[in-house]
Amino acid sequence: MTAFQFDTFAIEGQSIAGVETNIRVPQLNLNLDIGRCPAAALRLDHLAVSHGHPDHLAGLPYYVVTRQFYGMKPPTIFLPHFLIDPIQRLLALWSEIQGFELQADLVGVEAGQRYPFRRDLLLEPLAVQHSIDAFGYVVYTRRQKLRPEFQGLPQSDIVALKRSGAELVYEQLTPILGFTGDTQIEGVLAHSAFLECEVLVIEATFLDERRDGPERARAGGHIHLDELVEHSARFANKALVLIHFSQAYAPEEIPGIVAAKCPSAFAERLRLLLRKRTRRQR
Ligand SMILES: [Zn+2]
Ligand SMILES: [Zn+2]
Repeated sequence: MTAFQFDTFAIEGQSIAGVETNIRVPQLNLNLDIGRCPAAALRLDHLAVSHGHPDHLAGLPYYVVTRQFYGMKPPTIFLPHFLIDPIQRLLALWSEIQGFELQADLVGVEAGQRYPFRRDLLLEPLAVQHSIDAFGYVVYTRRQKLRPEFQGLPQSDIVALKRSGAELVYEQLTPILGFTGDTQIEGVLAHSAFLECEVLVIEATFLDERRDGPERARAGGHIHLDELVEHSARFANKALVLIHFSQAYAPEEIPGIVAAKCPSAFAERLRLLLRKRTRRQR
């Protein structure tokens, strides 16, 4: 299984345009999208869904029912608010089909709001630009920090200030992970959190002219590699994980295309989530 190790978490998963996307971050106990439901996705208690295309969503009922079958707790599923009603109806239908009620904690999210999903983690949906309404997500760590004006004071002063009711701490938010879902490039460039988070998982559906140039990529609500190169100076991320490549590209040719187009300082920060070749394709 492909996995990329970063400072405090690893990213693994699979993502092929039109087939399936499921990005997993085990240390954050988080799935991002669930086109199919691989076994490894079942172990993670949270799922954030970007949009309603089946290659990002169709594994949801399987994820819910299989966890229930194994006696695991109901998952918490963050969905764009406009998907709550159809997904509730979908789960009700599956409950009817199989004869018992499916249990999931569905949270309808609004762009720009922040949702705690662990004591030290927040999830922020951001509106992106795709062929249908879609969100990306940014995960923040939250830490209590002593306000600068109180730093360096003796402990006895801090205790006295605390007794007097002073606001001693503030919450420091650090964007550690971004996930664009499916979007054209403007949906990414519009949000500084995507450009500044430590690791950005970003779709790059089209890579060269053979399949579709940037104009066609934009028309479909997707990103072309040429656009990433054009705007590469804006990405301050430590690393970018490129996902959602079109099936038109064989996995073994993708690193060469990316290396030929990207300046080396940018290419060094890129990781490529490539699909595995099946035996039949060899
Ligand atoms: Zn997609
Ligand atoms: Zn899509």
